[in-house]
Amino acid sequence: GFKCGIVGLPNVGKSTLFNALTRTADAQAANYPFCTIDPNEGEVAVPEKRLRALADIAGSKEVIPARMNFVDIAGLVKGASKGEGLGNQFLANIRETDAIAYVLRCFEDDDITHVEGKIDPMSDYEVVETELMIADMESLEKRKPALEKKARGNDKDAKLALELITLAMEQLESGKPARAATIPDDADTRKAWRMLQLLTSKPVFYIANVDEDSAATGNDFSAKVFAHAEKEGAQAVAISAKIESEIAVLDDDEAAEFLETLGLEEPGLNRVIQAGYRLLNLQTYFTCGPKETRAWTIPEGCTAPKAAGVIHGDFERGFIRAETIAYEDYIKYNGESGAKEAGKVRQEGKEYIVKDGDVLLFKFNV
Ligand code: GDP
Repeated sequence: GFKCGIVGLPNVGKSTLFNALTRTADAQAANYPFCTIDPNEGEVAVPEKRLRALADIAGSKEVIPARMNFVDIAGLVKGASKGEGLGNQFLANIRETDAIAYVLRCFEDDDITHVEGKIDPMSDYEVVETELMIADMESLEKRKPALEKKARGNDKDAKLALELITLAMEQLESGKPARAATIPDDADTRKAWRMLQLLTSKPVFYIANVDEDSAATGNDFSAKVFAHAEKEGAQAVAISAKIESEIAVLDDDEAAEFLETLGLEEPGLNRVIQAGYRLLNLQTYFTCGPKETRAWTIPEGCTAPKAAGVIHGDFERGFIRAETIAYEDYIKYNGESGAKEAGKVRQEGKEYIVKDGDVLLFKFNV
C-alpha cells in the first residue's frame, strides 16, 4: 500500500499521533526520547464523505473505505546521519515511504523534555531536514564513481543520472531540499530522478502539534509552520495529538460530543489522513451496489483497465468496458437507474482515463 512516514524529533508527539491514527492508544507513547525503537506501521481508513452518500442511495449493507499506511519513524536527532541517537537506521525506514509528514512540536509542557531545549518548530524542522539533506549528499557521492565509469563508456542513462546528481548536489549544498529543484518535465528525466531515491525529494506536509487549548484555533508556533508551508506550496495541518488520542478511543456519539465542546467539526486525524492521501497524487473511484459501496485507490491518469486491475487481475485482463457515472450525477439522479434515464451512464473503453469520483461497473470476459 501507499506509505506516509511520520518524521520529527523525539518528544514532539509522533507516537501519540501514530497511535491515535491506528487506534492503538497508549501502546508506546512515553515521556522519554527514543521510546519508539521499532518502526511502527499501521493501516488507516481514508475518511471520505462521498462514500456514505453513495451507500445511502444504493442501500449498501457495507461501506468499505480506501486505505493507506502510516509509519512512525523514530530516532531522528541532530547528528543522526552520523550515527547519533538511534543511528541512521531511520534512513532506511524513510526511504521506503512515498511521502513524509513532518510532526513539529508547537505545544509547551515543562514536564516533557524537548531535545533541543526550547519550543521552536521551525528550528526543529531545520534540524531534521538537515539530517536528511546530509544523508542525500552522502548517498549521491557514493553513487558517482560507478556512474562516471559508465558515462565514459557512453551510457546514456548514466549520463542523465550524473546530470541530475550535479543538479541535486547544487540544490542540497545551497541548503535546499531536493524537492525544491526544477527538473525537466519528461518521462525519462522524472524516472531517473526517482531512481536517485533521495529522501528530500519525497513530497512533504507539515503537522503542527499544538496544545489542547489551541486545537481549533492554532497558536503562534503553528502560525510559523503554516507560513513556511505556504512559502513552499505545501500543506499544513494543526492538531493536538493528545486530544486526537483521547478521541480515538471514544465511540462515535461520544466523539461527536467531545469535538463539539472543543469547537471542532471533525477529528484532526481526518485532515492528517486526507493531506497524506492528496500528497500521493492518488484518486478514488467507487463501486456501488446493494452489497457494498467501496472506495478504490488509483494513481492520477489511470486508464479504466488498470483501475479494474486494482480490484482483480482478471478484471484488467478480460476488460471490455466500464459503465461510468460521475459522482455528481449518481447523487443528482438518485442512483444508477435515475442516471440511466437521464442519459448519464457512459460506456467507456480501454483508453478511458478514470476521473476522481467516478462510479464504475466493469464488464469483462472471464
Ligand atoms: P515522540 O517521541 O515524538 O513519538 O513523542 P510521544 O508521542 O511519545 O510524546 C512525548 C510526550 O509528549 C508524551 O508524554 C505525550 O503524551 C506528550 N504529548 C504529545 N502530544 C501532546 C500534546 O498535544 N500536548 C501535550 N501537552 N503533550 C503531548
